[in-house]
Amino acid sequence: MTNRVCLTDPYLAKFEARVTQKRSVQGRWEVLTDSTIFYPEGGGQPSDKGLLANCPVEDLKVDSSGDIVHTLSKDPGAAEGDPVTMEIDLSRRFDFMQQHTGQHLLSQVILREANAETLSFSMGEEHSSIEIDLAGVEQQRISLWEDECAKLILAALPVKVSLHEDISLIPLRKPPKVSGTVRVVEIEGYDLSACGGTHVRNTRELMVVKILKTDRVRSRIRLYFTVGLRALRDYRWKNSLLNDLQRLMGTPQEELLREAEKQKAEREMMGKELKQLHKEGLERLLSSLLEGGEPYLERELPGWESGELRLFATSLSKEGRNVVAYSRDKGHIVVARGKGNKDLRTLSSLVFPPLQGRGGGREDLLEGKVGSWEGLTQVLGLLRETLGRGS
Ligand SMILES: [Zn+2]
Repeated sequence: MTNRVCLTDPYLAKFEARVTQKRSVQGRWEVLTDSTIFYPEGGGQPSDKGLLANCPVEDLKVDSSGDIVHTLSKDPGAAEGDPVTMEIDLSRRFDFMQQHTGQHLLSQVILREANAETLSFSMGEEHSSIEIDLAGVEQQRISLWEDECAKLILAALPVKVSLHEDISLIPLRKPPKVSGTVRVVEIEGYDLSACGGTHVRNTRELMVVKILKTDRVRSRIRLYFTVGLRALRDYRWKNSLLNDLQRLMGTPQEELLREAEKQKAEREMMGKELKQLHKEGLERLLSSLLEGGEPYLERELPGWESGELRLFATSLSKEGRNVVAYSRDKGHIVVARGKGNKDLRTLSSLVFPPLQGRGGGREDLLEGKVGSWEGLTQVLGLLRETLGRGS
């Protein structure tokens, strides 16, 4: 079984091990060593990234005999029995150590304050989350948990790892999933967890635990959180976002929300008014055109959406008019036939190519997007010629 140096010294970035097995599998190379500093995915913590004999390690897994298999895209050169260098991305690993130990702390804080167990834990490159056995939580309580974590970080509690054959007398936060020797991670005097991951050596290295948001999952809560340097990066971009918003809206930070709500309400009201105006305009235009009695109509309607153009054209075609309606700014054209028996689909290849557009329709309606209006005169001439006579 590979000696997991990653568990005894999680801060070790470089190491020299000895190759015990090397094999080529489907164009890639699998390397086994006597020891490793690479942590393979497990217990909610992702695999490490790094180099083995200067080749990037693409995948890490644990085989059935408990050996760690390092997968590389090329032959690392070293033969069985040879020494081989290893180097992990320590800043990435330390980030996971902070998230992972932060999770132990937070789970115990929630257990003590709310008597709610942590049911699952997930750690990703961006987000970490726990699912807790609680139906709901209010912001005040979340702040209380964050404050409690801050106190325990300031208390600089040592984090210690020990191995136990008999755990019957150890008050673990949760019963372990493994049998036999159990690895116990203790935040001194505060939390005891059975865990096979990598952790920081003192709570002061966690810097801060911040809860980002909560989601309801079935009848429970999923709580997203961030710890340490990741929390600092998160604070940095959120602060920069707030500064940018403040500049853009010309409003002090403390009034941004009120301003955004006000603008949203105004926009909704203006949208409604605009819709009403459009509707009234459409109705007025339709009734005047219907009174006019022209058999062939050609209208440019600036700002009209495709649906409005279609409604306009079909309302008139129902009354026996042939209609061409288009809106340059919306890039749309509609042709509707109310008179004659010309199948408009046969015109498609003559209408859209000169407009660099694409579209289609049915026997009595043609519509589509327009890419360029340069060919409009030509197309209108053709349509006038074909539909203007009502043929
Ligand atoms: Zn852990």
